[in-house]
Amino acid sequence: MEIIDIIDKKKYKQELTKEEIEFAVNSYTNGDIPDYQMSSLLMAILLNGMTNKEVFYLTDVMMHSGDILDLSRFNGLVVDKHSTGGIGDKTTIILGPVLASLGCKLAKISGRGLGITGGTADKLESIKGYDISLSKEEFLKQVEDIGISLSYNIGNLAPADKKIYALRDVTGTVDSIPLIASSIMSKKIASGADAIVLDVKVGKGAFMKDVESARELATLMIEIGKYFNKKVKAVLTNMDIPLGHNIGNRIEVQECVDVLSGGGDENLKEVTISLASNLLNMVTKKSVEECRLLVIDSLNNGSALNKFKELVKAQGGDYDSIFENNSKTYTLSALKSGYITDINSELVGKASMQIKVGRETKEDQIDYESGITILKGINDQITIGDDLAIIYYNDGEDLEEAKRLLDEAIVIEDKKVEDPTLIYEVIG
Ligand code: URA
Repeated sequence: MEIIDIIDKKKYKQELTKEEIEFAVNSYTNGDIPDYQMSSLLMAILLNGMTNKEVFYLTDVMMHSGDILDLSRFNGLVVDKHSTGGIGDKTTIILGPVLASLGCKLAKISGRGLGITGGTADKLESIKGYDISLSKEEFLKQVEDIGISLSYNIGNLAPADKKIYALRDVTGTVDSIPLIASSIMSKKIASGADAIVLDVKVGKGAFMKDVESARELATLMIEIGKYFNKKVKAVLTNMDIPLGHNIGNRIEVQECVDVLSGGGDENLKEVTISLASNLLNMVTKKSVEECRLLVIDSLNNGSALNKFKELVKAQGGDYDSIFENNSKTYTLSALKSGYITDINSELVGKASMQIKVGRETKEDQIDYESGITILKGINDQITIGDDLAIIYYNDGEDLEEAKRLLDEAIVIEDKKVEDPTLIYEVIG
């Protein structure tokens, strides 16, 4: 078999066989095919698409390129969640303890962030002492003991995807629905969960800019789940505006504690409740409505917060450190009166990068304490001089550029706009 024939076939929109996809992926992963030929194939896929069968084969070969976690000892109760990435997206840190308090098993592998969307691993590492790098044995023992473990690299999952994704990143081939779907699902299925909920973000700060493409991605990921006998649902949620008020590692964990204590931001709470109740529904015989009540109860009666404290302690974290913040603050005030009509999540994300909330490159150091608190919501009435946001920053960070971007992100106009939709639809 020759890679050039496979590239030609895709170039002329013909369906690739399982053997051809296996050959391309395995030969590239082993180093037998150079970057330039794989890039050419990826670009042909981006331009000409893939059939569902091709997507299933691609997912299969990437998934089998590394370890597959066997979590069968947990009797069908293992749940997992994936978000396509958003600004202020912190739902895992709430949803995990909630579901563990309700008897589910969370063996959750979380990534570090790159670019404007943060990673759960970074947020948890902002808790002093929290050990994100458990061994596989420690990770599984903790799931057995307390029902939840949130860790970074467990096993060598889907190394083929890792290599291909790095190449896509520098060859303009990330934004292909078949490639995104197979990339995400190869890792998720290798992680061993019985049920998976996908939070597919839609809007300015997301991969998917409109509901139609988000629906297409979600539907394909659900089809992949069916092919591999996994229960999968998707929730399409708004990412035009940030989720919750806080953007920044430690201040996001603080906001999670607010929700885990029964209060907190309503949007953040609602998205988390929706994701959690759909997951619980997939591993129990209860309806989504019944699951929703259980989830709300767990937030209100302290059991979710207690489970979170147990998790932090089990991984060596100092719970009290969550509330420490020694950074300097700058308060952004309104330059005019009117109503808030936009809080552009992409610009807020870029502003947060100026104060080292996230990394530009994998090697960058982030600042766990820096961040942005947005004090207002869409359609709030504003009088000139009102406080709009607080920036937490430290020396050596570009406060001026952060201020400029944040000022551009928060738009004040004379008239109100239609209230934004928070959850577009649930699929699956
Ligand atoms: N996240 C992934 O894991 N893969 C993609 O292709 C895009 C986002």
